Amino acid sequence: MKTNYREKIEDNQKNGDIQIGIMGGVFDPIHIGHLFTAEEARVKFHLDKVIFVPCLNPTHKRNDHVTAVKHRLEMSYLATDSNPYFEVSKIEINRSGPSYTIDTIKEFRNIYGWDAKIFFITGADAFLEIETWYKKDELLNICQFVAATRPGYDLNKLHQNFKKVLQIMEIPLLAISSTDIRYRIRNNLSIKYIVLEEVQDYIYQHKLYLRKKVIDNIRKQSS
Ligand code: ATP
Ligand code: MG
Repeated sequence: MKTNYREKIEDNQKNGDIQIGIMGGVFDPIHIGHLFTAEEARVKFHLDKVIFVPCLNPTHKRNDHVTAVKHRLEMSYLATDSNPYFEVSKIEINRSGPSYTIDTIKEFRNIYGWDAKIFFITGADAFLEIETWYKKDELLNICQFVAATRPGYDLNKLHQNFKKVLQIMEIPLLAISSTDIRYRIRNNLSIKYIVLEEVQDYIYQHKLYLRKKVIDNIRKQSS
């Protein structure tokens, strides 16, 4: 199925009318909030595919340590593998320095050309920080932004000018975040159903986000 679909994408690409969604993130770890948002955007905007782009270095500060990129990348592959419309790109990982979205979109423009319709998909929290994004004006001119609703973040706060260039995508609110997942693991709480099983297994196998003792406890409880 995946192979046939790739052929279709290539045909579209030749016709110059490909529509691509780009979902950037730290994905530490990737969870169903990311996957559902991407899938909803794919259907709503008739996207030929959604490309997940794990960043090398987050441009926005985080209080805790960011997991090695090889793990974040592998979990992204595991989580997206079963969806033939999803892909993972190493575009930001292969580029040194901070992962600026503007550079990423330009790289995708080089690959897919200027006729392609590129939708950059974010959650409401990320778009609310648009003022702080590197070269935001240029960025808003070279792709279409989609912001999914996310609990605790009100897109009505945005200045009128931004509202004009943004497509707001109402989704069933998912109070799920990687921060919460990391917290859950540290505190011996379940992450079942908020990450894919493959991702959960990978996290436990590689003892991510946790001291060894607690992982062993979780394993005992779920066996
Ligand atoms: P963290 O808590 O570490 O910031 P996160 O859950 O926000 O993690 P990111 O990798 O920072 O995940 O987010 C990547 C993109 O996915 C961002 O645009 C973010 O707004 C969006 N996103 C993440 N979780 C959700 C969600 N539950 N609903 C809608 N959008 C989401
Ligand atoms: Mg985030």
